[in-house]
Amino acid sequence: MNPGKALLRPDMMPHILCPGCGHGIVLNVLIRVLARRYASLDKVALVAGIGCSSRIVGYIDANTLHTTHGRALSFATGLKLARPDMTVIVVTGDGDGLGIGGNHLIHAARRNVDLTCILFNNETYGMTGGQLAPTTVTQAYTTTSPYGNRERAFDAALLATAAGATFVARGQAFRPDLLDDLLDQALDHRGFSFVDVMTDCTEYFGRKNALGGGSDLLFSQSRSDVEVTRDLNEWPQLQDPHGFAIRETLAMGVLHESDRPTLEAVMGLSGYRRGEG
Ligand code: SF4
Repeated sequence: MNPGKALLRPDMMPHILCPGCGHGIVLNVLIRVLARRYASLDKVALVAGIGCSSRIVGYIDANTLHTTHGRALSFATGLKLARPDMTVIVVTGDGDGLGIGGNHLIHAARRNVDLTCILFNNETYGMTGGQLAPTTVTQAYTTTSPYGNRERAFDAALLATAAGATFVARGQAFRPDLLDDLLDQALDHRGFSFVDVMTDCTEYFGRKNALGGGSDLLFSQSRSDVEVTRDLNEWPQLQDPHGFAIRETLAMGVLHESDRPTLEAVMGLSGYRRGEG
């Protein structure tokens, strides 16, 4: 039996995820990592904002906070400062964490709060209707870009690194083994750790761009173990009718690691530890 199954809240089932949604894979990996690392989740808190990814914290039998849109990191910061003995994990989406809550992300990274932030990056706002997100690749169609996106997408990992995060990694739903290792390393790290996870929204991003079902979207992530090229010119359904030439390269793995005092250490908070469940 999957040891993580005991960490689920059966009364919260059935879950809300659409068939083929990549978030289910990421949830599975997160539960396995938690089950392996912690004998009990009594001192583990999962904090989320709003969105399909944020909703998954409700399925895990830890201390869970489902907060307001984009504000998970500010709630998590307060929790960590009040209870520095706890392991605090933020689960957010690209719309929630980089769009609505982008300001909170850069300041949590700047402060080097001892949190782990897992950003489910499906390049769209899923739950709210498939709108354009700051991570939507140029040319992609969304509910609010019916003629194709004209903007350049944020590189979430670069942004977190520039803002001061001391551990930054990128994984993908296509590689649960790699993601498992990255989440483990992020949880081992003392300081603000950020994991950008490429996952897929079949219902909106996949459908709007005629990219196929869940398995088609997953295999589109499979270009390489260490580096994925999301080259829209190779996606015939996304041939640009307006002459835009786009090449997005997304590196995978641990992208940045550095060491500097955490906010909790600088403040001299008592009971500050990390990694104990
Ligand atoms: S709307 Fe998209 S992100 Fe949300 S559950 Fe469905 S497929 Fe997943």
